Amino acid sequence: MKGFQKEGKHLFNQDGGIFMGAKRLIQNSKIGLFGVPYDGTTSFRPGARFGPSAIRETSNGLETYCPQLDLDLNDINFTDFGSLDIPFGDPEPVIKLVKNATKKLLDLNIKPLILGGEHSITSGSVAAVAENYHDLILVQLDAHADLRNDWLGSNYNHACTMTKCLEILPSKKLFQLGIRSGTRKEFERIQEEKSLIIHEKDKPATNLDKALNPFLGKPIYLTIDLDWFDPSLLPGTGTPEPGGYFWNDFAAILNVLKKHQIVAGDIVELAPQLDQTGISSILAAKVTRSILMLLNLSIKNN
Ligand code: MN
Ligand code: MN
Repeated sequence: MKGFQKEGKHLFNQDGGIFMGAKRLIQNSKIGLFGVPYDGTTSFRPGARFGPSAIRETSNGLETYCPQLDLDLNDINFTDFGSLDIPFGDPEPVIKLVKNATKKLLDLNIKPLILGGEHSITSGSVAAVAENYHDLILVQLDAHADLRNDWLGSNYNHACTMTKCLEILPSKKLFQLGIRSGTRKEFERIQEEKSLIIHEKDKPATNLDKALNPFLGKPIYLTIDLDWFDPSLLPGTGTPEPGGYFWNDFAAILNVLKKHQIVAGDIVELAPQLDQTGISSILAAKVTRSILMLLNLSIKNN
């Protein structure tokens, strides 16, 4: 363990803030988060590199107690490892770093939660988690399908991240929620994969509940692209997409997911400077608090 503290120091930059209630050292924690301040393939409005620091800073303004899940962060032992030092330029080396860091946490029996950064980083963490859990399934909240084969000359672009994940995922099981933007080809792919879960606003998350029911007890990787939310609620993101969802929709999803085994996840695409009110960051921090609690529940359920 001591070796990791040393190595961890080398791997993670701990200069910035720390998420509310977290520890810097491992000390028996079973959950760990780290930041990936990268937005190198963002084509429209960059700024997701500032996501991890904004989430950490804003987290201190939240309550530690979640009435919905009846859990308190102060009762959860988790580590904030800091953020990866990111090389400028291409995504491949960044994705490799993310895979490496995720693997390090898994080797220590720590469930990883990654704060982005842009969505391209997910294929790195999913690759590491899928090596540990061969029956891993992927649940994606996003406005965008992210099923392009390549985009702007790279197949590691954030618009291709689910294509990459499907290549890696042995189960080939992907469930997509909230997708409302993409190319015709991507929507054809969605049909082929039968991956889209229609989220009905009058009875939210019942379709997700049905779709995930056969997978009770199976390991789930949860990837949350924050542009799933409506831009009126969360304008601080690089590619906002009208027609999105609200907190009550998210709360309904939490109620479904809390029965399941969430073994890892990420929260991506917060670009805090695009929202001068700061509310996007507060929302992202609250999403982070919720997912930390889901990870904790899945340890208890295990
Ligand atoms: Mn998106
Ligand atoms: Mn995305």
